Parts: sequence; structure tokens; C-alpha cells
Amino acid sequence: SHVLVTGGSGFIAIWCVYQLLERGHKVRATVRSDDKGKYLQSVFSKYGDSLSYAIAEDLEAPGAFDSAVQGVDAVLHTASPFHFNVEGDPKRTLINPAVNGTRNVLNSIHQHGKDVKRVVVTSSFAAILDSTRQGHIVYTEKDWNLSSVENVEKKGKDQEAPDAYRASKTMAERAAWEFVEQNKPSWDLVTVNPPLVFGPIIHQVAAAEKLNTSVGFVWGLLHGSKKEEDLLAPAGNCVDVRDVAYAHVEALVRDDAGSNRFATSLGPFTYQDVVDIIHEDSSVPEEWKKQVPVGKKGAGKEVKQNELDGSKATKVLDLKYVQLKQVVQDMVASLADYEKRG
Ligand code: NDP
Repeated sequence: SHVLVTGGSGFIAIWCVYQLLERGHKVRATVRSDDKGKYLQSVFSKYGDSLSYAIAEDLEAPGAFDSAVQGVDAVLHTASPFHFNVEGDPKRTLINPAVNGTRNVLNSIHQHGKDVKRVVVTSSFAAILDSTRQGHIVYTEKDWNLSSVENVEKKGKDQEAPDAYRASKTMAERAAWEFVEQNKPSWDLVTVNPPLVFGPIIHQVAAAEKLNTSVGFVWGLLHGSKKEEDLLAPAGNCVDVRDVAYAHVEALVRDDAGSNRFATSLGPFTYQDVVDIIHEDSSVPEEWKKQVPVGKKGAGKEVKQNELDGSKATKVLDLKYVQLKQVVQDMVASLADYEKRG
């Protein structure tokens, strides 16, 4: 089949593109510049004509995806801003592109994507987790984030960036389900809801400061951003980027995946767990190790925190999760490679 991937230049999206090509699908990626499209074509040159790209500069521009959706059988909509930058109005920088962008893509598919049978939207644990809930919670696909959207409505411009991001993902996912309910399109919808995504990078990164947010956290850790006392703070849940991409592709090809949300999660982690792996790994450059605190080896396991249950994806999509040691080792190795390339 022929698959459109929006935001094909991103950390997660490029892994989706790769896995689709490997499985023999044709891929059209939308990107914001020729440079990013050319990068994709050079990375995947061995797949020749199976990969093409189209420019869609502005997610919110009406009709921006009208031609890109023509002739494809399925769409992965991954493009959405993920950052915690505080400058500017979060409605403009985070919420509008996420929500209007999702509606805009779905609208183009509805109007012009007559061959499309399945649409997979990259949502997030952010659309599930509700930070106002008390106690130890095991979250599943049945849960929704109710408080971030309320906070954004109350606080407007003064909204804190992480919560504005969470609201953007919640509202975008809701908009997608509502679109399907209201328009009864000829395709069905699936969402993939990952927590923090780690793992190796293969996308184009102009400078370390421009690394995508989740990998940027670990780049920071390798360059002295964390102190001993930070290591045992609950860090949330995580998952490998290759597993997130696998879930997108499986969600696309399996009939029985339709109309589902899939949480893709390895479970909770702490940065203590991460530094334990880094210090035991002889391939990590010494100058990085020097900047990474040691903390209390093994103590991460004692930290109680909320969980995102990723077992439905295992059951329905046959997703077998890459374990944290491998996730961290492969991520750090790819960052060391990136630094070498300059
Ligand atoms: P990236 O920042 O690498 O990818 C984001 C993609 O969206 C890029 O292709 C980017 O284009 C595009 N994009 C961002 N803002 C806009 C905009 N205003 N207009 C058009 N395109 C835009 O991050 P990820 O790969 O991590 O994110 C991909 C998806 O995964 C997002 O939907 C994110 O919310 C979701 N997600 C990510 C998690 C994580 O931990 N990484 C966790 C849960 C969900 P460009 O390359 O041109 O900037």
C-alpha cells in the first residue's frame, strides 16, 4: 500500500518511514522544507522511488494536505509541536497547530483521500494522564486527561508550557475522535499514545539544542544537566522509538486495530535507572560519564510512581517491548555518533 506520513522529518516519524519502507510499502512524507525532504531521500536512497515527499509548511493552512492525501491508502499523522518553550502564547505555539492541524489533515483526507482506509494519529500519554488524580494509578486507554484542558482555559497565556503541551495533545486527540463521529468518513481511526519516547536518532538534527525534546533530556543528562538529588524523582514512563513506530505500522495494517487507542509503554523509569546503565556501558565516552552523576545504584527500583499499562498493544499488535538497558545503550550510542559527525 501507499502511506502518507505527516511530519516525516521528526524523531518518531522517520522511524515509521523506515519501517514502512522495509516492509515494502510506498511512502509519501510531508515535511516543512526541501532540505528535510532531501535528507529523507538521501537516508533512504536504497528504496528509490518508494519514497517521495511533499511540502506542507503550515499545518493549519486550509487545504495544505489536499494534494498529499490523494492516491494514498492510509495516513500516519505525526506532525505536532512537542516542546516546553515558554516564549509566546501557548495557544498559538502549541495548541492551535496540534488541534487545528489535526482537523485540517483529517478534513483533507475526508475531502480528497478517497482511497484512504485507515488513519493513525500520534497522540500521547499526555492525553491520558491527569496530574490532579491522587495515589498510585495504573493508567490505561480508558483514561483521559481532564485537567490540562481546564487549566488552559482558565489560565490562558499564563499557562505553564508542560501543561499546555498536554492540553494540546488531549484536545487534538479529542478533535480526531469527534471528527470521525461527526463526519462518518470511509476510513477508521487509531491513536498511538506513547509516554516519553527514547531510543536511537536517525532524523536530521541541525544542532544539539535542536534535538527533539525527549532525546534532548538525555543529551542534557550526558552534559551535566542533572544532579545526584534529581535522580530519584519520579520521571514518568518511557518507551523505545522503534516500538512506537512498530505500533504505528501495525495499527495501520491490522483490520482489528481500527477504532482503538494504543498506549505503548515500557513502564515507569527514573534517571537513576538511566545513569546505572550509562555507567556500566564501556562504549559511553569518558568525558560524558564524568558529567553524569552516579547516585545510588539500583535505588531507582524503589521509586513508586504512576504507570502507563502498555499490555493492550502487546495483545492486539504483538508489540514486544525493547527493554530499558537496550533503549538507553542504543540512544547514547546514536548520540555519540551524532557528536562525532559534528
Ligand atoms: P519532533 O519534534 O522530532 O517531531 C515533530 C514533527 O512535527 C516534526 O516533523 C516537525 O517538523 C513537525 N511539526 C512540529 N510543529 C509543527 C508545526 N507548527 N507545523 C508543521 N509541522 C510541525 O518530535 P517527536 O518525533 O517526538 O514528535 C512526533 C509526535 O509524537 C508528536 O505528535 C508528539 O506530540 C508525539 N509524542 C512524542 C513523544 C516523545 O516523547 N517524543 C511522546 C508522546 C507523543 P520539523 O521537523 O519541520 O520541525
